[in-house]
Amino acid sequence: MTILQSYGAAEVVTGSCHLLQLQCGTNILIDCGMFQGLVEERNQNSFGFDPSDIDFLLITHGHLDHVGRIPKLVKEGFKGTIITHRSTMDLAEVVMLDSAHLMKESYKTQYRKAQRLGKEKEVKEPLYTESDVRAVFHRPILFATYDEEIDLENGIFVTFKNAGHILDSAIIQIIYEENGRKKTVVFSGDLGNDDDLVMPSPDIVKEADALFIESTYGDRNHKGAEESDLELKHVIQKTFLNEGNVLIPSFAIERTQEILCLLKQMYDKGELPACQIFLDSPMAIRATEIYKRYHEELSECCNEFLERDGTIFDFPYLHYSPRIQDSMKINNEDSRCIIIAGAGMCNGGRILQHFKHRLWNEKNALVFVGYQVQGTLGRKIVDGAKKINVYGEDIIVKANVHTINGFSAHADQNGLIEWMSKFTKLDKVFLIHGERDKQEIFQKEIEKRLDKKAHIVKFGEKINI
Ligand SMILES: [Zn+2]
Repeated sequence: MTILQSYGAAEVVTGSCHLLQLQCGTNILIDCGMFQGLVEERNQNSFGFDPSDIDFLLITHGHLDHVGRIPKLVKEGFKGTIITHRSTMDLAEVVMLDSAHLMKESYKTQYRKAQRLGKEKEVKEPLYTESDVRAVFHRPILFATYDEEIDLENGIFVTFKNAGHILDSAIIQIIYEENGRKKTVVFSGDLGNDDDLVMPSPDIVKEADALFIESTYGDRNHKGAEESDLELKHVIQKTFLNEGNVLIPSFAIERTQEILCLLKQMYDKGELPACQIFLDSPMAIRATEIYKRYHEELSECCNEFLERDGTIFDFPYLHYSPRIQDSMKINNEDSRCIIIAGAGMCNGGRILQHFKHRLWNEKNALVFVGYQVQGTLGRKIVDGAKKINVYGEDIIVKANVHTINGFSAHADQNGLIEWMSKFTKLDKVFLIHGERDKQEIFQKEIEKRLDKKAHIVKFGEKINI
């Protein structure tokens, strides 16, 4: 009997970690991500399995919630082989190092505070350090290519297919034989949209005995991309007319590159007023470099830019601000700036410095282009906070706050159902990577439109395949 157990992204959207134990004795882990937001403390818990029992770790893509606990996995005894795309490991390195750095800084701050109360022994050590991240790269790594069948062992074959979510993101198909019968298990990974500016559309998969599908937006449909583009354009034009500036808190991987492409498109069409655009995030700059390096995996639009201009993302208004001095210089700019800075949910990063300089001024605009998780500063502002606190200083929120939801890198309900409808053979359906209430809505929709029962996977639940 083959068994699947989810140790993350079960009834929540973060912490992706799924263990497939095959009857032949091979153990495969699919993703090993970080829990974020309200469930963050779960990262400190044990995995729920012994990392030294895992033979292979397959990684769908380089987002933190899919790779963030790999250093912990290695630290706690994982001795197996990692299989993923080369670019995914490049992105994962940036993401995991950033995560180690943030945890170190937060530990130092908490330790100092606790010292004043004589409680420093109660402060939890960071989950892992930068040297733990380096140890990940000492494990054997096998680089995958789309559509190439990898022979694992014991007659198990793995194929990575394009999920169209971020650079080289993958749908993973695992084929094996059990009791003389061929079986196919498919993990959707995070699925992208068909109309994404930077990524190609997700590949179609035809067969699965068991499909484990993400359900982040299983409950809703996004506004169209065109509508969102127009909204952003109007905010920029209106803000510049008032001699203000536009702040965009942005996620380093994918959303930043999409916004850059969109601004470049507006520039091409003569729809972007003369301005200065600052990409003020070292992590986003590094991710953008990785996107450039693997350009052949990006959309046609990106490759047309490259052919025409010799560069995908650059255009005359765009400046990169890698160093802190570059970032501080932006403060001297009076108006007509677009400042793209991390973190995407404003729970740290350079965006906070820009809040100090600009959030209190009604001429400016703050544009959210990604989901703001509960418990983050971004969510507080979206929910209408009139005053926030940044590094111990109160700041009133007078800038115009906008939320534009159409830039999601995840397929919406229609996208997910349409992707599922292309299967010619689909036996069992399991929902992962979604909040419970949203999954229940998605479950009903699947039954209504595809006449299929879908099961919502619980943490640690044993699923027989
Ligand atoms: Zn993702």
